[in-house]
Amino acid sequence: MTTSTQIQLIARPVGTPTPDDFRVVTEELPALADGEVRVGNEFISVDPYMRGRMNDTPSYIPPFRLGAVMTGGAVGRVIESAADSLPVGTPVLSFLGWRDIAQGPADQFTPLPETDLPLSAYLGAAGMTGLTAYAGLLRIAGLRTGETVFISGAAGAVGSVAGQLARLLGASKVIGSAGSAEKVALLKDRYGFDEAFNYRDGAVVDQLRAAAADGIDVYFDNVGGEHLEAALDVLNRGGRAALCGAISAYNTEGEPTGPRNMGNIVTRTLRLEGFLVGQHSDLQPEFAQRMAAWLSDGSVVFDETVVDGIENSVQAFLGMMKGANTGKMVVRV
Ligand code: NDP
Repeated sequence: MTTSTQIQLIARPVGTPTPDDFRVVTEELPALADGEVRVGNEFISVDPYMRGRMNDTPSYIPPFRLGAVMTGGAVGRVIESAADSLPVGTPVLSFLGWRDIAQGPADQFTPLPETDLPLSAYLGAAGMTGLTAYAGLLRIAGLRTGETVFISGAAGAVGSVAGQLARLLGASKVIGSAGSAEKVALLKDRYGFDEAFNYRDGAVVDQLRAAAADGIDVYFDNVGGEHLEAALDVLNRGGRAALCGAISAYNTEGEPTGPRNMGNIVTRTLRLEGFLVGQHSDLQPEFAQRMAAWLSDGSVVFDETVVDGIENSVQAFLGMMKGANTGKMVVRV
């Protein structure tokens, strides 16, 4: 008998989620049907967008169902197979979520290349989060050689990759913000940001102005709120903002803080554009090829914060939402 342990959402959080909004369930798995595989997950992903799916509000992706597994990215290897396309041992990516063993038709699992990278990299720099940084800078912001780029959430999964890609894609100056002195040091020492500041040290607009004497041309927004307002004050004429996320508002119970200086968009002829990585999967082949080269020659480095144990997935998620992670937060199953 094989059992699978999964984490389910059982209550819709108001404001910041608590462990009581989730439960751990262990269930027996049925025998494999023809064409199915069983996968031993090695890492699962906890991501900010999951917070939105905990609300019962219509969005670009349906809400999580109460009493059902927390779905999301996971990587592992096939441990039993009734499908010729995925033999035992094949590394795979799925979106079947927070469970130690995933089982289903082979087409629910995407085979991954066998490389020197740990499988977890396909949840981060080499996967969806890396593609988010790439699409945001290149396609949404239209980054050009010699420009100055500001990235918020810069020590996180998307932000740390975005900072390095900005440089590789031609930026002459890269500025980042993050929530601790340790993260600020990392931005400069490891990810190659020219300037970095701790947004908790003072007004974002003042710190951004000090870091960007000649203004910024591109803003990659992971945070929203005060950060976006500050960027609108410091963007140069013709500047672009790729709106990737607004994590400062995800746990907000009241009205989120919004920029009060939208008039700058007109007077400085700015362009702000939101985007969803899922709508840019046509970039995946070119991204995969370029990122594999950058990772192998060390042009891009990445970090992970690893929490052990599927039963600690909620703790990993809640920690990530408060900044406990550097780079990609993953759970090692
Ligand atoms: P991260 O790895 O960046 O983790 C989240 C980070 O957010 C924390 O580490 C914390 O870092 C920071 N944070 C939390 N609260 C605040 C706050 N109030 N103000 C500023 N920073 C805060 O997550 P991801 O890289 O996975 O995601 C980053 C952003 O990108 C999110 O907004 C997410 O929703 C978005 N995203 C969007 C996608 C798209 O398709 N548009 C795809 C993937 C992600 P710190 O210590 O610095 O505070």
